[in-house]
Parts: sequence; structure tokens; C-alpha cells
Amino acid sequence: MRMKDLDIQKRRLTRKVRVGRIGIGGDSPVTVQSMLNASTKDVESCVRQIEELKDAGCDLIRLAVPDEDSARAFGEIARRTGLPLIADIHYSYKLAHLALDNGAKKIRMNPGNMRDFAEIKELARRMADAGVPVRVGVNGGSLDPKFEGKEESEALAESALECANAFESCGMRDIVLAIKASDVNTMIRANRRVAAVCDYPLHLGVTEAGTLRSGLVKSALGIGVLLRDGIGDTVRISLSAPPVEEVLAGKTLLRTLGLRKDSVEVVSCPTCARTEIDVEGLARAVERATAHVRFPLKVAVMGCPLNGIGEGKHADLGIAGGKDRSVIMRNGEIVATVPTETLMPHFMAMLDDHIAEYSKNH
Ligand code: SF4
Repeated sequence: MRMKDLDIQKRRLTRKVRVGRIGIGGDSPVTVQSMLNASTKDVESCVRQIEELKDAGCDLIRLAVPDEDSARAFGEIARRTGLPLIADIHYSYKLAHLALDNGAKKIRMNPGNMRDFAEIKELARRMADAGVPVRVGVNGGSLDPKFEGKEESEALAESALECANAFESCGMRDIVLAIKASDVNTMIRANRRVAAVCDYPLHLGVTEAGTLRSGLVKSALGIGVLLRDGIGDTVRISLSAPPVEEVLAGKTLLRTLGLRKDSVEVVSCPTCARTEIDVEGLARAVERATAHVRFPLKVAVMGCPLNGIGEGKHADLGIAGGKDRSVIMRNGEIVATVPTETLMPHFMAMLDDHIAEYSKNH
């Protein structure tokens, strides 16, 4: 095997779809999405949650539209936030039309529970005219019964492609496919199947992935394997946890694979008998303090000056915490030794310096 084959593969060529000003596919960077868990009818809570997701670096935000009141509230939320919002629709074509009336910039529909092709075509014609894209979102748990009996990944792929064809037949080109399953291997197989036969951008996710720990492991595995193969244009890490955790996990995944560089990587030591400070607490404080940084920055948080200085030298900024005195490093050099109780203010001043210098040079 050639070394090249072991590297992350070049992204598969897909057509570019626009959701407001955000591109999915084509030459756009892989984007991070999440979905609100507040009631869409609760406008204040939704606006607050959207601001939180935006600050965490979320590119695209989806809201469920389960009834007509939610569709109307969707319009108010879109106006208040000024963001391109995605309406999540199940079962009802009427709600899809209402969401469009209320400014939805993309509609997610599930062909497992929206199977009337005459209705789909009417919706497709309207969306094509308005330039609003669709996400055909197929889920293992709600597959069209007519595909029962087939191997699951094949059934998922066929259902998605059949629905996409119906949209295409009405002149609609702005189509994103999402094929999700709770079983990671099924999800990987199904996405590989469609990636081999179409140029639709793919939204990747493992559905019903679970709580924070199992959800992160399953999603990182399923989404990560595909992204490494060059498959995938936008991701959602589904978690039974606050949506902001989905965004932070998505950003971390993309940064880890080198697909996005616009966020901070905080590395910290695993701690051991030599640890002299609260590494976990300090690493979390550093994560919070650097969450707004939108350029590549690596920060190391180490639990002792003895080994931490050497191990933290590869980072742009580093802290090696000691019981009484701690060391701050920048670009591999020790730049300050400070009393541990004043470590965070000193680190913040160093961070501000670093940000100012980066902004001057870029
Ligand atoms: S940096 Fe120090 S405290 Fe952390 S694991 Fe290494 S030796 Fe242990």
C-alpha cells in the first residue's frame, strides 16, 4: 500500500448547495450543525440557545416545526436572529409550506414518513423556484416500509436516492442527503453506497447515538471514518446532552482531522502521582477562556513543571502548573514563572498578546 492511501483522502467532489450565506459541498469547508432542544414556540429560549450555539462556532441550526404555532414562531426567531435557519419537518407537507412562508432557508424532510410523491413534487417545484434547498433525511428507525426486507444500508440508500430523484424531476438541484442509523457500521455502509453513485453533498451523523460518552464515541467513529475517506460535507453529532456540546464535539472532530482550523485545541496531560494542580479544572477554564478564538491555536495544560515543560513545548501557549509556582510557555519558550494563584490572569494577558500578534500578522 502506498503511504498516500493511508492519509486522509481528498474530499469527494459534490455539487454546492447554499443555505443562506453558508455553503454545503463543493469547495465549502465541512460545516457543523446542531438542533435546538427548546420548544420552537418558546421564542425567547430559542433565541438564547441560538446565540449560545453561534458563539460556540455552530454554522447551521435546525429547529423542529411540529405544528402551525411552531411554524409561525420559526418566522419570528429567524427575524430576531438574522440567521439562515433550517426547518425540520415530519409527516406534513402543509407544515413544510408554512415553514417556507416563515423564512426557512432549508427544509429537512423524512421520506420515511412523507411518501406522497405528488405532494413532494409540488413542494419541490416551490422550493426550486425559491432557491431553498432540501435535506432528504433518511433514518434507520423510520424507513419507508416498502424497503423492508432489504439489507438495511441498501434500503436506506435506495430510499434517499428515490426521494432525491423526485425532487430532481421537478428541476430541484439543491439537495443534501442525510442517511443516519443508530448502528455505526450500517451508517458507514449506507453513506458509502450513496457517495459512490451521486454528487449530492452528504450530511453525516449517527442517530440516537446516546448520552455524552457513548454518543461521542459512536459519532466520532462513524463520522470520522467517512470524513477520513473524503466523504461528508456537513456533520451533526447527535447527543442526549445540551446542543452546545454537539457543536463543540463537531468542531473538535473536524479540527482533529485537519478539516477545520478555525478553533482552539486544548491539550492536557492525563495526570499522575506527580500532578500538583487541578488539571481538569484548569483545562476547562482555558477552554472557556479561548472559546471565542477563531484561528488555529494550540494550548497545553500540564500538571507539573517537571515533565510538563518539555511535553507542553509543542503548543503555541502552555501552562505547567506547580503547587506554588507555575510556568507559562509561548512558542516553546518559558516566558513567565508566576504564583499559581495568579496563573489564570497571567495566562489571559498572554492569550490577549498572542491574539493581537496573530491579528497583526494575518
Ligand atoms: S505532565 Fe506531569 S503531572 Fe502531567 S502526566 Fe506528565 S508527569 Fe504527570
